[in-house]
Amino acid sequence: MGNPRYANGHRRREVQAYWRARKADCYICGRPIDYTLRPPDPWSYVVDETVAIANGGRVCKANSGPAHRWCNAVKGTHTLAWARAEVRRRLAGHRPGTVIAADWESADW
Ligand SMILES: [Zn+2]
Repeated sequence: MGNPRYANGHRRREVQAYWRARKADCYICGRPIDYTLRPPDPWSYVVDETVAIANGGRVCKANSGPAHRWCNAVKGTHTLAWARAEVRRRLAGHRPGTVIAADWESADW
């Protein structure tokens, strides 16, 4: 019945505003989010659905968290616990910047 992302547009904007107003840190990597950055910057702000919509999750505050675009892409439809471990692993030994950007380009899964 239509595109769920479109149908959820209003609630998604509410959730986006909720986290933005709190200037919350990324709930995947735990680092601050620069809320002035804009896509496609990998460190810009997105709302992550804790349980992905594709897996039956809903758009609401209880099923969402503030995240970096990059962290959100790493998570995909995986669990939050998996994403936190994976992001920590990928960031280990890397400084944010060119290495991460290259990784972002190849993260097509
Ligand atoms: Zn993050």
